[in-house]
Amino acid sequence: MLLAHRIRIDATAEQRDYFARAAGTARRVWNWALSAWNRQAAAGLGPNAMALKKAFNRIKYSDPDWLDSDGKPWLRAIHRDAHAQPFANLAKAWSRYFEQRRAGQPAHAARFKKKGRSADAFYVANDKFRIEGRSAVLPKVGRVALHEVLRWGGKIIGASVSLEAGHWYLAVQVDVPDHLARRRRTGDVVTGVDLGVTSAATLSSGEKIAAPRPLKAALRRLRIRSRRQSRKLEAAKAAAGIVGRIGKGMRLPASKNRTKGALALALARLQARIARVRRDFTHKLTTRLCRENQAVVIEDLNVRGMPANARLARAIADVGFYEFRRQVTYKSARYGTRIVLAGRWYPSSELCSGCGRRNAGLALGDRAWTCAGCGVRHDRDVNAAINLQRLATGALAARTALPEASQAVTRDTAAGLTPAGGGEVTPVRHEHGQQDSSGQDENAVHICTRNR
Ligand SMILES: [Zn+2]
Repeated sequence: MLLAHRIRIDATAEQRDYFARAAGTARRVWNWALSAWNRQAAAGLGPNAMALKKAFNRIKYSDPDWLDSDGKPWLRAIHRDAHAQPFANLAKAWSRYFEQRRAGQPAHAARFKKKGRSADAFYVANDKFRIEGRSAVLPKVGRVALHEVLRWGGKIIGASVSLEAGHWYLAVQVDVPDHLARRRRTGDVVTGVDLGVTSAATLSSGEKIAAPRPLKAALRRLRIRSRRQSRKLEAAKAAAGIVGRIGKGMRLPASKNRTKGALALALARLQARIARVRRDFTHKLTTRLCRENQAVVIEDLNVRGMPANARLARAIADVGFYEFRRQVTYKSARYGTRIVLAGRWYPSSELCSGCGRRNAGLALGDRAWTCAGCGVRHDRDVNAAINLQRLATGALAARTALPEASQAVTRDTAAGLTPAGGGEVTPVRHEHGQQDSSGQDENAVHICTRNR
């Protein structure tokens, strides 16, 4: 079973410098490959990533674009994996794109990576590094100190080095033998989970799990700080007589620039802390769900379509739906828990969990509603979670003629994804590690289903 462990690197200044250059190289090579790909595709040539890699290898030590000011090929200073992997990633990105197109799913063509906006990351192949206790020996940089020891025993598949909020991380993918990777479940319940707007998660048992308080407080602080920062920046720009964007060559007074930098750093730190708190919360929740249940039912939300609704998108982003889904998916394999995805158009919120009648007039803001059929008063989220749970157990299916959902699985069945009523369900692929660094829709664990 493929598992990944992401460990913080306590990097020295020199190591950070190398990491930044290697990540920059990976990004630049990706962009080179993508533009060559696009040129060939436009000319109807049917581009091929491996052919592009060969073409790149022919020019990478001689083309003026890849020479430094002394005419030396600077690529030699960066380990080969960092500039070879982008081609494999590009091939993967395009094949995923065409696969999605064929299946009639929303698909994004490969995009150029921009500094500061795309993840800073590069790949290291398994035969190029080794882990020794609390350190790793990486090509070109040598020994780096790790924050913790590698959690998994097994065959190391590869690793990526990536930057997050000023810290570098080593994500190691390990093929862990199943008997070591498996964890015992403590329960055999089927639970519907409504990932939500007001509570972070509502379970079909009626339990509401709130987003952690420090997160709320930090978010508030973040908003205040960023407002303050933009106000100060506007004032400084006005004082310097700059209208609109700060262009190249324009300078704010030095002290103002320092203020700007300090505030930006404070913001980045705060954002990193929020991300940590959020991830920790999600880890605890997803572990618990997998441990206690034989099946966990969630909605296959059309997350890609979400940003149209800013408020809902915000709430979903806060809970970290992608991260939740990614974690619950890989953990389910370890606990032998089934993850059931309700079809994207399954109206879990609108159906009465008492009588099955649909309340099509339910608005997004309605936190509670009364069923016109049976008169039961529903909490929106609990009702939705119960419907999701029923979908899987088949109780609701019997009443509303929805296709029967999955039956229970035996403890040792490898976890899989089970279609539930109300539409088809696409399998969730267990993807780890490397995709995280490809920059293509990070952790593209799943593709939403389309129901007809
Ligand atoms: Zn009812």
